[in-house]
Amino acid sequence: MATDQTQAPVAAGAAGGLSLGSVELSPFQAVSLFFDQAADHVGVSDEVREVLRTPYRELKVQVPVRMDDGRRQLFTGYRVQHNGARGPYKGGVRYHPAADLDEVRALAALMTWKTALVDIPFGGAKGGVQCDPSAMSDAEKEKLTRRFTQMISYVLGENRDIPAPDVNTDAQTMAWMMDAYSSRYGYTPAIVTGKPVELGGSYGRDAATGRGVVYCLEDAARDRGVDLQGATVAIQGFGNVGSWVARLIGSLGCRVVAVSDVRGGCYRGDGLDVQAVYDTVREGGSVVDAAGVEQISNAELLELDVDVLVPAALDRVITDRNADRVQARLVMEAANHPVTPVADAVLHSRGVTVVPDILANAGGVTVSYFEWAQNIQQYRWDEDRVNGELRKTMSRAWANTHARAVVDAIPLRLAAFAIAVERVERAAHLRGYV
Ligand code: GLU
Repeated sequence: MATDQTQAPVAAGAAGGLSLGSVELSPFQAVSLFFDQAADHVGVSDEVREVLRTPYRELKVQVPVRMDDGRRQLFTGYRVQHNGARGPYKGGVRYHPAADLDEVRALAALMTWKTALVDIPFGGAKGGVQCDPSAMSDAEKEKLTRRFTQMISYVLGENRDIPAPDVNTDAQTMAWMMDAYSSRYGYTPAIVTGKPVELGGSYGRDAATGRGVVYCLEDAARDRGVDLQGATVAIQGFGNVGSWVARLIGSLGCRVVAVSDVRGGCYRGDGLDVQAVYDTVREGGSVVDAAGVEQISNAELLELDVDVLVPAALDRVITDRNADRVQARLVMEAANHPVTPVADAVLHSRGVTVVPDILANAGGVTVSYFEWAQNIQQYRWDEDRVNGELRKTMSRAWANTHARAVVDAIPLRLAAFAIAVERVERAAHLRGYV
């Protein structure tokens, strides 16, 4: 649970105090630090900074659910709307035992900077319910989703706040959310994105975050001098994002040598049979059950001698404890906030290129925008159009970020945040509230 302390903004000067062994920051403190470094770089005044750093609205709700065994269990849910200067609040909903207010607040802020960086007309939000979905039946998850949607419905709206999938939520979850909202307010497909295609979801949305990571890797490797032909890749996480990255990355000539999930990792030096691993997981197994692989731990995966490392699971997996042992030359942040500020500084000082989350994983929210636009217009795009527009959006965002990093001689993360902060500040200024 968040404390008042975690809400306190981090002083910009804290960056200077970062060193190996220093205490890591909470997720919102870390994102605030990334923001402050960018605000320093672009020269945002103190009073404007306070408005842009802190969330507009934070909603905490009770979510009581009658479980299958007849007990009533009380869950806690959150929806944090961080900034809406550039458009309706936008961001996913996660179901996870660690989903507390500080984490949801951090993820909401990241969505503000992500939507601004890829230049889609949305603000940033995030939702979460603190629960363990792996211990819940489908019927329990459906009841939880419907009740949570009802509890936050008065801050939602197709022009106000539009949820989407995130960790442990999927197209089915969005179908329940859409139905729960629509049964109160009338048929509203644009109230959520990431829906099943049959309910107005977009072709290509399911693969979009992973596909965006692959497009971004292609651009980053070209401009940063990493040859992808025969390059080795390790992917932490085999959920929606990780499994799509694993299936699509071979198109760049890379070889996936390791993947993992909550039960552990699997490794094969001459390359995994990704389709076979995927089939094992689809049939209800874990990546560790795949045939002909060596089992490794999640921690070992992060330290493998590979060219490209793709953390695609949870936040804060590369920290002050393991950053000096990461051997990859390129880290693609497919997850949100997988690298802590201390680890980020260590990787930078060791010459490792880190492509930040707000750029690398922006493909998901980008296709969410396409889905929302299709719903509003009652018009469907084919998958080639979706992927083509995604490619253009990702490549434009990469080119802007890379150019800014080169011109200002700064790391990619600072460049990405600098572009995003300038855009949000400008929009807020034009609207007259900073
Ligand atoms: N949960 C995804 C993210 O973190 C997608 C959000 C969305 O599509 O609104 O970017």
